[in-house]
Amino acid sequence: MDQYLPDKVNINGEQFRVYLTKDEIQERLKDMGNRISHEYKDKRPILIGVLNGAFVFLADLMRYISIPCEVDFLKLSSYGDEKVSSGNVTDLKNIDADIKDRHVILVEDIVDTGLSMNYLFKKLEQFEPASLSAATLLHKTEATQHDVELKYVGFKISNLFVLGYGLDYAQEGRNLAQIYILEE
Ligand code: 5GP
Repeated sequence: MDQYLPDKVNINGEQFRVYLTKDEIQERLKDMGNRISHEYKDKRPILIGVLNGAFVFLADLMRYISIPCEVDFLKLSSYGDEKVSSGNVTDLKNIDADIKDRHVILVEDIVDTGLSMNYLFKKLEQFEPASLSAATLLHKTEATQHDVELKYVGFKISNLFVLGYGLDYAQEGRNLAQIYILEE
């Protein structure tokens, strides 16, 4: 069987359609990986993935990076089963790596209000990394209210709920190989 690529999916009684195809995502990741390989040459970056959503993006992105690099993960509280953010961020798992004097790239699936990314920057800066930047697959530019500096952005998208490719709706849909959007 090929990867899981339906045109439409029904999750939690709601219908979703393809928004970004597998090929579009992979092409974009190739560019991002090339850029990171060039800009972090001889810096041995640590990619820090934000669980759960970013694990698929991070796994694919990393395989387009051609310089030595490391990986670690942290976990924040999530949306729960809703389609809107609770407005609170709490830590569920911390990093294990020692990032003092290291070049860190935070890897997120999606930046919505920017609350999580803003929180993570402040949190990781306390460990005194040599540099700290962010890569996100998706950025809901119109929804972002908090100050965030995103060095690598896969796709700028409208302010609509999406799932697939690591992103869930009530814990479902992470195994879809493309990004889906709620059908109007
Ligand atoms: P922020 O803190 O920027 O408001 O939200 C970031 C987190 O909210 C993301 O890491 C992701 O878990 C979740 N999120 C935001 N927008 C969406 C969306 O459209 N779909 C899904 N599945 N999760 C989202």
